[in-house]
Amino acid sequence: MKIRDMGEFQFIRSIAEGCHFSTQDLIRGIGDDCAVIGPYGERVLLVTTDQLLEGVHFLGGHVPHEQLGQKAVAVNLSDVAAMGGEPRHLFLSLAIPENSRVEELHAFYRGVKAMCRHYGVNLLGGDTSRSLGGLLINVTVIGQGLEEEILYRDGARPGDRIYVTGTLGDSAGGLRLHTGRWQAEEPEASFLKAAHHRPVPFVEAGRFIARSRAATAMIDLSDGVASDLGHVCEASGVGARILYDNLPVSDELRKIAEANGEDAKSLALRGGEDYRLLFTVPLERAQDFQVRFEREGPCEIFLIGTVTEEPGIRVVRKGGEEEPLSARGFDHFG
Ligand code: ADP
Ligand code: MG
Repeated sequence: MKIRDMGEFQFIRSIAEGCHFSTQDLIRGIGDDCAVIGPYGERVLLVTTDQLLEGVHFLGGHVPHEQLGQKAVAVNLSDVAAMGGEPRHLFLSLAIPENSRVEELHAFYRGVKAMCRHYGVNLLGGDTSRSLGGLLINVTVIGQGLEEEILYRDGARPGDRIYVTGTLGDSAGGLRLHTGRWQAEEPEASFLKAAHHRPVPFVEAGRFIARSRAATAMIDLSDGVASDLGHVCEASGVGARILYDNLPVSDELRKIAEANGEDAKSLALRGGEDYRLLFTVPLERAQDFQVRFEREGPCEIFLIGTVTEEPGIRVVRKGGEEEPLSARGFDHFG
């Protein structure tokens, strides 16, 4: 069997058994945005790793190196945010083609360090080797949090309300502009491209949600709502109903998608790399939580649907007609 016939997520499931040889300090291994280690007193360690590969995650020569450095850090901080944790330390490894320019690699590290400075994260080590292909960037982030506050993918319960921490689909729109599939004027073009190249990790929002102790599950949107809500549903043994009209899209995306003959909401549903947080709150706490978040929270939040007992994700359109969500989000081999 070829891995492209199996798919990324099926592959991860196929290797996830028989990985633990000691139960000491082990709270959660494969299957969430971070591994959770501890507890040490009331605290736990959070560890996550993600890689960016030239030609797969970014097109060499098209992305300024400083932005690439920022993005490599941001996508990892996002996984710590998705657990409700606080990122603390970072390791960064590179496999570098031998004709790479040192000035560009230094620009890459300027981006890395700018992000680390902003979030109070230390760069503590890594590894450097030669690459026979493109540039390979691997980042590992260590974070921490209170054990009681950590949010997993498997806590969603029927009736819970589903929220996201910002507009969706902007990054997918930026990618379409970047690859020439879409055309756009300024300032919308720059807005959407920035959403793609300079994603913002929702660290503060994740901390706020965790501290509130109102949420039941959380994930970051790296592969699109369709895919990532699917992970929450699968882990929690539930389904979901998404209110299509509630999917939040920016004015910029709405305008440019329309001009290019595409439906912005469809990008909001399936487009990847937005790095918003998606989280669930029990119905009886949702109203209070929403009011508090709107008053004191660090960003906007949007209600996009409800968790259901019945498995599978359905999309509800105007007038109440429902359809099962067919195509999923991004799969590396899909
Ligand atoms: P995310 O999108 O949040 O980074 P992934 O979908 O990449 O999460 O990974 C899901 C889970 O599978 C995580 O717990 C991750 O650590 C684990 N995982 C992914 N690839 C591998 C691998 N090759 N070996 C072991 N664990 C893996
Ligand atoms: Mg994640």
